[in-house]
Amino acid sequence: MSTLQQIVAALPGYNAENLPVEVAKAAIRALITPVAEHETLALDDALERVLAADICSPIDVPGHDNSAMDGWALRGADLGNKEARLTEIGTALAGHPFTGSVGPGQCVRIMTGAAIPDGADTVVMQESVRVDGKTITIPVGVQPGQNVRRAGEDLKRGSVALAKGTPLHPAALGLIGSLGITRVSVYRTIRVAFFSTGDELHSGSDGEQTLGTGEIYDSNRHTIRAMLQRLGCATIDLGVVRDDPAELEAAFRRAAEQADMVITSGGVAAGDRDFTRSITAMLGEVLFWKIAMRPGRPLAVGRIGTLDEKSHKAAWLFALPGNPVAAMVAFQQFVRGALLALMGRRDVELPLVPVRAAHAMDKKAGRTEYQRGILERTNAEWTVRLTGPQGSGILRSMAEANCIIVLPPERDRIEAGELVGVMLFEGLV
Ligand code: AMP
Ligand code: MG
Repeated sequence: MSTLQQIVAALPGYNAENLPVEVAKAAIRALITPVAEHETLALDDALERVLAADICSPIDVPGHDNSAMDGWALRGADLGNKEARLTEIGTALAGHPFTGSVGPGQCVRIMTGAAIPDGADTVVMQESVRVDGKTITIPVGVQPGQNVRRAGEDLKRGSVALAKGTPLHPAALGLIGSLGITRVSVYRTIRVAFFSTGDELHSGSDGEQTLGTGEIYDSNRHTIRAMLQRLGCATIDLGVVRDDPAELEAAFRRAAEQADMVITSGGVAAGDRDFTRSITAMLGEVLFWKIAMRPGRPLAVGRIGTLDEKSHKAAWLFALPGNPVAAMVAFQQFVRGALLALMGRRDVELPLVPVRAAHAMDKKAGRTEYQRGILERTNAEWTVRLTGPQGSGILRSMAEANCIIVLPPERDRIEAGELVGVMLFEGLV
């Protein structure tokens, strides 16, 4: 079996010391495959889960030829190069078909969605006919076959309605429901354990505890948990772990034992008291990257195990930088995709939407910058502006934002009015 290092080293442009964002994303895609286990759920319990098998349609959709319009159903053969005068012999409504047959010179009043009666093959819309009691006059120019939705036109019986790997958004649930299917096979929920590292960190205590000099409250555990919940992961909060090798090793082992993925924050840069590198090297194989991005340059990705000979449990590890904005950006750009891949999703990329910059934006060339933006309507057009100071420790810049502005590595400045790519925080339901 190849090591993680062998897999990623084969990627074009791979350089752990200065890794382009796109290569880092490709490396993660190359490493991670979906979990093996599936489960079967009731359709309405499966929101945001991922299909573990194709959904094949057990029926034709629509199930029968039906009318696309309110009008009259008739025989195309009755249409010619002069007006046709037909006799209305009945009515077809959605759910109440006309049970007779339409003969030459006859027609049936029909509503949208109603089954096309036997004998008829064409619907003329009501706006274009003349009605005189039961005598319906059809103008010239109506085409045979017009305004009929064919059985199986949307979906043929037996064909794939939704492919394995599709996320179950509301429309997908509706589509599956429309096929009469009430249970679905989905990938199992992903379990993620997370902890924060740093001697300076405290969990909040509603003002009862005062912070010593240089001490701060832990924010990363809140953002990381919340982002995991939004992705539908089961979360295991392992708290704050001191910058102490023995405590850290115990925390990594405990986390790897319980989870599919372990996420830590802090202690991933090459500082004096940062032990992540030596400990994870003992527990598995972890790649330490310097990514050509800001914020979020240091990132460690790998596999760690409990080294328990019997269970052989192992988990993916993502060690994020400690700065709160950097931790969030690294999660959004790399961990999100990794989790979706584990969940079985095939579409793991976030759309990048072009929007005009409301003002000039400066950056350094040679790295991708993820700036925090407010996308808003200014007069007729949507434009994006920065939230204010962009330091990687300023969580407020993130809390006020409604999007991330992605500024590409080749640029060193964006002028007002230029198009920039944004990733939106909110999506449609
Ligand atoms: P580190 O990556 O451990 O060097 O931390 C970088 C910066 O992020 C330091 O200023 C830390 O105090 C801060 N930091 C690390 N972890 C957290 C956390 N969980 N919550 C808030 N700030 C943090
Ligand atoms: Mg630290």
